[in-house]
Amino acid sequence: MEFNTKLLHGRAVKKYADGATLPQISQVSAFQYDSAQEQEDVFHHKAAGFAYSRVANPTVAAFEQRINEIEGGNAAIACSSGMFAITLSLLNMLCAGDEIIAGMGLYGGSIDLFEDLTKFDIRTRYVAHMTPEEIEPLINEKTRVIYGEVISNPSLEIMDIRAVADLAHEHGLPLIVDSTTASPYLINPITLGADIVVHSTTKYINGSGNSIGGIIIDSAKFKWDFDRFRALDGYRQFKNLAYTIRLRTDIWENMGGCMAPMTAFMNVIGLETLGLRMQRICDNAAELAKNLAELDGVEVNHPSLTGCTGYELANSQLHGKGGGILTFRVGSRERAYEVINSLKYAVRATSLGDTRTLVIHPASTLYIRSTQEQRIAAGVYDDLIRVSVGIEDVSDLIEDFTNAIRTAKTA
Ligand code: PLP
Repeated sequence: MEFNTKLLHGRAVKKYADGATLPQISQVSAFQYDSAQEQEDVFHHKAAGFAYSRVANPTVAAFEQRINEIEGGNAAIACSSGMFAITLSLLNMLCAGDEIIAGMGLYGGSIDLFEDLTKFDIRTRYVAHMTPEEIEPLINEKTRVIYGEVISNPSLEIMDIRAVADLAHEHGLPLIVDSTTASPYLINPITLGADIVVHSTTKYINGSGNSIGGIIIDSAKFKWDFDRFRALDGYRQFKNLAYTIRLRTDIWENMGGCMAPMTAFMNVIGLETLGLRMQRICDNAAELAKNLAELDGVEVNHPSLTGCTGYELANSQLHGKGGGILTFRVGSRERAYEVINSLKYAVRATSLGDTRTLVIHPASTLYIRSTQEQRIAAGVYDDLIRVSVGIEDVSDLIEDFTNAIRTAKTA
């Protein structure tokens, strides 16, 4: 089954109650039972059923099953936001004293989170580029995980997942990847060796910018050394399922960051058109990037352009597509503001992966908590504009951006 067919007819797409083609929105907190015994059986997982929506909910389960199938995982757990998915993907396996190795080009929110984790004595060592050559020298006896983004945002570097996963595994470490900016349309990181995948479903998966959400997908392929990964120690008997079982029955349930049923429903609808949207978005982004690169006074970055950092890996890993985000530099912050202000169709809004094209000046918004040094390391320059390309007619986008750049007077 090809990608778009699988989204509509995969194993996880069920005939729902009353023959419905989509899951019902089970907008309830609790589920009732006829007897105390029945309720006990559900609580002890001896009988199928739902007890309480923070722990499991049919609409959320329907979404989890669909994503899990599309990503080729063993289990998926939906969260209240992408940030909560990232937080839990790490806290589920880390203890105080452990270290993460990550790339400097991460989404600003993740860098802020890693700073927060230092208060719990979980530290992050950063590499400029997520390559085995840069990562290996930082691995020490405290390292417990390698974490990176498939397409870093907004530096648009692409991680060679197989190479980084091979290195991680040689050192007995799992690789967690944030695949939000690629989406399952461009890549299934588990097939290349990633152990755990996270997405902010807020972006391409939802696709219409109507709900905040996140998801963690566990491949269940990683062989946990329980003496080393002390956070999973009590789950030894579950072997390679330990990560999922601790997450589902312990930390995710107890921290209470579940996805709302309505969000799960919106995400199911979004997921069904992911392939169509992504194809259009990637084509639009490549075309827009090509046209903007021809203008004077702009420096464009998009992995579809030869000479851009992600070009080779986009070809080998992402079916030749460069994703839906492009960035360009215009010479100064003032000029960047002027360009942003005069755009007609592109919407000045944060987020990405929407149907409509979104623009933002990352240095003054997404990276306000970062130091200037961190900003430069993440490729966030003062004159840089990030564009999340939408599904509009590309000729209109080209005209809109070209006019805005050509008419910007500030040097
Ligand atoms: N990961 C990436 C790559 C992102 O761009 C974002 C948000 O922009 C997140 C994670 C966080 O997702 P959320 O806003 O759903 O918490």
